[in-house]
Amino acid sequence: MKDTLKHKGMRNKLAQVVASKGIQDENVLNAIKAVPRHLFLDSSFEDHAYQDKAFPIGASQTISQPYTVAFQTELLQVKPNDSILEIGTGSGYQTAILLELKAKVYTIERQKELFKKTSLFFDRMGYRPKKVIFGDGYKGLPKIAPFDGIIVTAGAPKVPKALLSQLKVGGRLVIPVGTDEQVMTLFIRKSEKEFEKQELGLFRFVPLLENKN
Ligand code: SAH
Repeated sequence: MKDTLKHKGMRNKLAQVVASKGIQDENVLNAIKAVPRHLFLDSSFEDHAYQDKAFPIGASQTISQPYTVAFQTELLQVKPNDSILEIGTGSGYQTAILLELKAKVYTIERQKELFKKTSLFFDRMGYRPKKVIFGDGYKGLPKIAPFDGIIVTAGAPKVPKALLSQLKVGGRLVIPVGTDEQVMTLFIRKSEKEFEKQELGLFRFVPLLENKN
């Protein structure tokens, strides 16, 4: 598959749709216009790639809806060179949006096939996250922490303590919390011990799974 002017036109329309649903951050909207979402999907979905919908990406997982990706990214308030941890690499689309915003991205995926497939895809496309990790996102990434931002792209039954502890003071954790449906929750670390919490609407994600080992 290639990226063409037709695809670019569809992305501009998608950015308009996402803006009409309330996303205001120009950098986030420009990232939606820039990232060729159709290349992150199986070719059978090519015609639908620029609809504001989630799609299956194999291994019972989904690529998040563009509005959801934009909503979470806007809440992260990414600045160039920020160090960002993503839990749930999946198709790599959210990773690419963060890279477009010039973040240093560390991304963790617990499904081996997706980890392998998406790592190869990043290489092929020239996307350069700092590191793609095969592992359990519940634990975060203590070796690299603290982070300016942490984004969880699967529904978390509870907020992993490790993730809160791996934020810089001033850092933000964006995490959908719940089982059947999730409340998008933003934590801002105010000091070593204090966190501000905001709850920002209902979403539906595939579950954040805990590894048994
Ligand atoms: N950001 C992805 C969303 C993929 S869906 C995208 O833009 O396509 C959520 C992903 O989280 C799935 O790939 C799933 O395998 C992964 N996941 C679930 N539990 C996890 C865990 N504990 N650690 C890391 N990844 C996890």
